[in-house]
Amino acid sequence: MDSKDSEEIEIAPRANLPGTKAANFFKFRKEADHIPFTEIPGSFGLQEFILGNIERDPTDCEGIISLPSSLPKEKWINVWILEHTRIFAWQLGDLTLSLDGKCIPESCPVMAVPSPSSPASKPLQFLCAAHKRPHDCCAIDYALHALDGTSSLLHNSSYFPSRTEVSGQSFKFFKNLARRLLRVFAHAFHVHHDEFIEFEKRTHLGLRFVLYCAKYSLAETDLIPTEELKRIRDESRSKK
Ligand SMILES: [Zn+2]
Ligand SMILES: [Zn+2]
Repeated sequence: MDSKDSEEIEIAPRANLPGTKAANFFKFRKEADHIPFTEIPGSFGLQEFILGNIERDPTDCEGIISLPSSLPKEKWINVWILEHTRIFAWQLGDLTLSLDGKCIPESCPVMAVPSPSSPASKPLQFLCAAHKRPHDCCAIDYALHALDGTSSLLHNSSYFPSRTEVSGQSFKFFKNLARRLLRVFAHAFHVHHDEFIEFEKRTHLGLRFVLYCAKYSLAETDLIPTEELKRIRDESRSKK
């Protein structure tokens, strides 16, 4: 082995290796803040970079969603939004899972959310757009169909052929996806409040999502009171 080889820095494998204890799952993400994402092996660098930021401090919602200043906005913004949307859909799946047995067709036969302008009036109802003709699905099916639809669209190589380049045309998809995912959050917040709050205290996913929708003008966020989510976040920070 020559001196150059012996000086090479070994990058720890970025995976949960066989035998990894549950407590150490994804520990590599917490430790990776010194690795620029362009140096993370494979094509998932940006995703790993964002997940690492989330793991290290889920309360820093504003920081996590902000495009790093080292990345020129013009080139990176669409890819940045693509990766965040992927991660939101997948983490919202965990919130949906926590509603198992609570959000059922009998209690929530349609996707409904209280009207933000007039909470005492009839709730807003949303048709599920996952079908040839949009129609009513019960709230849990709406959520699952929205998550499936998001995942299949973002994996559709006709619209998203690359993880490092996204055309401006695709931006309209992000708006549609954000609107639908926001309704799932809003339904959980208003109708399954206890489950939502318990999840939010651990993850701050709802706050991150509404701030993200507002920052990138993807969806109106008035279905969920952002201030309440910020209070929950501030409480978590004060306990640290
Ligand atoms: Zn429900
Ligand atoms: Zn549906």
